[in-house]
Amino acid sequence: MALSRSENMARILGKDTKPENLLRKELWGRGCKGYRKNYRIQRLRPDIVFVGKKIAIFVDGCFWHGCPDHYNRPRPCRPDGEKYWSDKLRENVIRDIKQTLYLHENGWTVLRFWEHQIEDSLNFVADAVVSVLEGANENYLNRQRVIHVTQVKPGLEEWILVDLLGQKEDVKEYRKRSEKVTNQVVE
Ligand SMILES: [Zn+2]
Repeated sequence: MALSRSENMARILGKDTKPENLLRKELWGRGCKGYRKNYRIQRLRPDIVFVGKKIAIFVDGCFWHGCPDHYNRPRPCRPDGEKYWSDKLRENVIRDIKQTLYLHENGWTVLRFWEHQIEDSLNFVADAVVSVLEGANENYLNRQRVIHVTQVKPGLEEWILVDLLGQKEDVKEYRKRSEKVTNQVVE
């Protein structure tokens, strides 16, 4: 199974580089210490919650949550594996959509960042969080999500991308299959 980029980094560096922890540390270092981790909102558990300001932050793994830049369709060895991974991706993306809408309906500001944003531009992400804490009305949701990838023919895949808020048409794209190994970083 594919390792996430952060897991790869952690292996190489031998320390905790989980993206949500990197963001927590960065915010802490900037004096934004008023957050809770493992705070539950009904059955939801965002990675970082500012309870008083009703701000819920999620750090979404590029593989598990369908990053348009880094999702990588697994090539399973078992015959039913294709369906397993396909269902898994769909379930996760649908859950993200429902969570986000539920929180919006209940007056929460939701921020969702990709793990690659934490790893590539932690400063940008932390700046974004701080600006929203200070009242900026910005959308940091990364709304486009891959929900389905199928092989059309060897080397070519059909990608379906959806909008996290369900307000935009689905997008269908054809992409060449990278010949790189599954867990390799695609730049
Ligand atoms: Zn990504």
